[in-house]
Amino acid sequence: MQELTHWINGAHVKGTSGRFADVFNPATGEVQARVPLASAEELNAAVQAASAAQPAWAATNPQRRARVMMAFVQLLNRDMDKLAEALSREHGKTLPDAKGDIQRGLEVIEYCIGAPQLLKGEFTDGAGPGIDLYSMRQPLGVAAGITPFNFPAMIPLWKMGPALSCGNAFILKPSERAPSVPLMLAELLKEAGLPDGVLQVINGDKESVDAILDNETVQAIGFVGSTPIAHYIYSRGCAAGKRVQCFGGAKNHMIIMPDADMDQAADALVGAGYGAAGERCMAISVAVPVGEKTADALIEKLIPRIEKLKVGPYTAGNDVDYGPVVAQAAKDNIERLVESGIEQGAKLVVDGRGFKLQGYENGFFVGPHLFDHVTPDMDIYKKEIFGPVLSTVRAGSYEEALKLAMDHEYGNGTAIFTRDGDTARDFAARVNVGMVGINVPIPVPLAYHTFGGWKKSGFGDLNQHGPDAFRFYTRTKTVTSRWPSGLKEGGEFHFKAMD
Ligand code: NAD
Repeated sequence: MQELTHWINGAHVKGTSGRFADVFNPATGEVQARVPLASAEELNAAVQAASAAQPAWAATNPQRRARVMMAFVQLLNRDMDKLAEALSREHGKTLPDAKGDIQRGLEVIEYCIGAPQLLKGEFTDGAGPGIDLYSMRQPLGVAAGITPFNFPAMIPLWKMGPALSCGNAFILKPSERAPSVPLMLAELLKEAGLPDGVLQVINGDKESVDAILDNETVQAIGFVGSTPIAHYIYSRGCAAGKRVQCFGGAKNHMIIMPDADMDQAADALVGAGYGAAGERCMAISVAVPVGEKTADALIEKLIPRIEKLKVGPYTAGNDVDYGPVVAQAAKDNIERLVESGIEQGAKLVVDGRGFKLQGYENGFFVGPHLFDHVTPDMDIYKKEIFGPVLSTVRAGSYEEALKLAMDHEYGNGTAIFTRDGDTARDFAARVNVGMVGINVPIPVPLAYHTFGGWKKSGFGDLNQHGPDAFRFYTRTKTVTSRWPSGLKEGGEFHFKAMD
């Protein structure tokens, strides 16, 4: 049995708490490794070492720090296959999807190569006689990131890239369900030239998260995961005076207007609803066709597409559309919610229950499900299922469809499929959701824009990656300087306008 480690001061370090979690291969259901769960003492020691390493890293000029990121990009590309295999083995997603996970993280590292430009301050020459005003963006010190299982490469990269590029030291607490890739990323950063101690990877569970919240040296926390934990970390972190951004769960609606291309909409829904077994925070989990005719046409096109989906292990390569879910508990939860949907009166038009794969009977596979006639009072509508289950809510009008998306407590992503520019514009302007797709089902913004949900999908005021990340991981210092020329005046007792 492989025993995983922490990554402290540039080396693998064994856990000393005596507590471990099992790491599964979701395709086979077998335990493939165990990961140490750090104690508060281990976490605090890692933070202390990071704090000692940070000033020299902050004093390294931004271009040199950016060169580390440049080398890191090359190494990520070099090891893409190896990383993807490790990722799929622990997460279960297909290999092409694992490469997408790494790629979308790598693109944020590419963006970070622009740190010297992004960190430039503002300057006002001659704000008053002999007076100049300028601002600097300075690192916070030690920042921490707490990440979920579903993007084991992308989300740690979204966090560590900007934090490190800004001159911070960074403590990453990855998901205990997919810890191997974050450790591999740390190895690659060392090879790219990152000084020891500047990045620490501490594996753990609630105990290490609480230790991060309680640690006075940690200045900022970036969290991604489920909403109850996001809210917990946001409230406790803010109460402790830290800078905190927390991104939570989702229930993403896709509205299909009567004028939409139905084949395009059906293809988009199948990819966005069932890709990665529905374990994406930007997955579409609710289809909202407008009008009965649209709904009937859509369901007719969806059923054969969903029945054709190939579910299997990542080792089957390109021959698989999606893999298992991450854990037996996730599978049980999905199955419970499917039963509740049936009991509460939704119509299960594609029934994936009882799905079994020969040779992988103990894997955490879930067959694809499609519900029709779902209503907003049902649990399958209210809750995030995070599995291959698509719910269809029939809306009588565009306004009714829009209201559904607006009234839902989550506001991560949403999409509209239409040929009408006016409807699309109206939707983008009015919907209270953070990321909007127009004929694009999964509108994940690229690295140089920012990513963040609204309502219960995001707590805090700055988004992830893009320019916001450089604001989140730095603080602004504004300097007003005067170099007296000529006669010196006496002291000033009034708060003066600059004249
Ligand atoms: P999770 O909330 O269970 O875990 C996330 C992190 O929090 C992990 O590192 C975990 O160890 C830690 N954690 C878990 N329980 C904790 C507790 N009681 N106290 C302190 N820390 C705790 O989430 P998950 O199951 O790993 O990920 C799936 C969730 O993440 C979904 O809800 C999904 O929508 C969401 N997600 C959101 C985004 C986004 O950007 N909004 C992106 C990806 C995933």
